[in-house]
Amino acid sequence: MSTLPPLAIPRSLLDPGLPLGLPDADGLVRVRITHREGRVSAVVPHAGPEPARDIPLALTPLVEAHAHLDKAFTASAHRNASGSMEEAMAANRREAEQRTAEGVQERAERALEQAWRYGLRAIRSHVDSLGPWSTTCWEVLGQLRQRWAGRVDLELVALVPLQHWLTAEGERQARQVADAGGLLGGVLGPPYRPDGRDGDALRALLDLAERQGCGIDLHVDESAQPPPRGLLLLNALLRDRRPSVPVTASHASSMGLLGNRALRRLAEGLAEADVGVVALPATNLWLLDRHPERTPSKRPLAPIQQLQTAGVTVAIGGDNVQDAWFPGGDFDPIELIRLATLASHALPWRRAGLAPLTTAPARLLGLSWDGVLRIGGPADLVVLAARSWTEVLARNPQRRVMRDGSWLPPPDSEAPSSLLRRLSASDPAVDPGLELAPPPPRPDALPGPPPPAAPARGRADPRP
Ligand SMILES: [Zn+2]
Repeated sequence: MSTLPPLAIPRSLLDPGLPLGLPDADGLVRVRITHREGRVSAVVPHAGPEPARDIPLALTPLVEAHAHLDKAFTASAHRNASGSMEEAMAANRREAEQRTAEGVQERAERALEQAWRYGLRAIRSHVDSLGPWSTTCWEVLGQLRQRWAGRVDLELVALVPLQHWLTAEGERQARQVADAGGLLGGVLGPPYRPDGRDGDALRALLDLAERQGCGIDLHVDESAQPPPRGLLLLNALLRDRRPSVPVTASHASSMGLLGNRALRRLAEGLAEADVGVVALPATNLWLLDRHPERTPSKRPLAPIQQLQTAGVTVAIGGDNVQDAWFPGGDFDPIELIRLATLASHALPWRRAGLAPLTTAPARLLGLSWDGVLRIGGPADLVVLAARSWTEVLARNPQRRVMRDGSWLPPPDSEAPSSLLRRLSASDPAVDPGLELAPPPPRPDALPGPPPPAAPARGRADPRP
């Protein structure tokens, strides 16, 4: 049995039945947690002498509701220099044609290792599933799924053009996906088909998913052009039939461009049909409304707050990591909180702002643990080197992750970079084995007269 030092934890991540007092302005309560054999055995209010400024903020491990492990970390080998969706598609195609079992294994393993150490406990990954690479990817990722179960639980979704589910091959593949415990996915976005084929394909997908007992997760309306025809079509179909399997709509970006009344109607329809939504701010910000000669003013994103108000379960996901669709990302859920706070105005000190990154994705993935700490539940924590949400927003904090009562090794990103160590090695006065020396004190911290003012910028100033 072990009792941890005091922690500041969001009230929404603690059993509401525990008598812990009122949260502070950051939504945090200070508690002492005792754990035994990997489970929480006690949670009590902290009443010790430590001032609040010495108590770290802690969360429970987080859930990534939307990723693409098969193509992660391919951006430098398959560049999308313009950042456009067209070039992303072409680069994705070239990269997929060169995919090997070894390559997918190595990159997905790296992704899972990073995710685990960063504090993720589950990932839903879409897998490119139409092409000769599909079988290899499913085999490799299926093995990793088994090997990582309990550390990072992995869900796999077959990503294909929606029309594929109308074919005999699609039907055969749906059986295979079901046998592998996966979900059926697809892309429903512009250019939409005027001939009703999108509706036929969507109906076929619903039929197959229900027959095979698979969940559905679609890429829908990843676009800067309203109206969101994909969601409107899905909503119309689900008005007449309530699916027996869970349905998730990922992206839903152009829905955010609807007028208030139409948006509310659609949100209420999705809530009625129990469709979950995954907002994906990073890839949306990178790709949508991109133009080579102007800075975008539209920043389409799923309307998270209006969906929540209507009763829809909304998660925020990371989507692409260092691939042709987005060159950034690192499977770091704390970095995603920082981004979501800016991009979607999700305020993490409010229950509704934190839920899309914690409890809502757990619900969409159907995980057995909702991520709320309670007596008898997992002794799992992500403890941050930050005292408040302001400090989390100021810089991505170092962290320590506890799983089943044991601390994991820290993420590699916390180790001194070998790239920078070489700089020290180039200076004969510095021992190459040492880390970089600390920076000199700021001029304004030195005793004596203030430093001279910097010259005003002007035409004579050659700096760009
Ligand atoms: Zn995606």
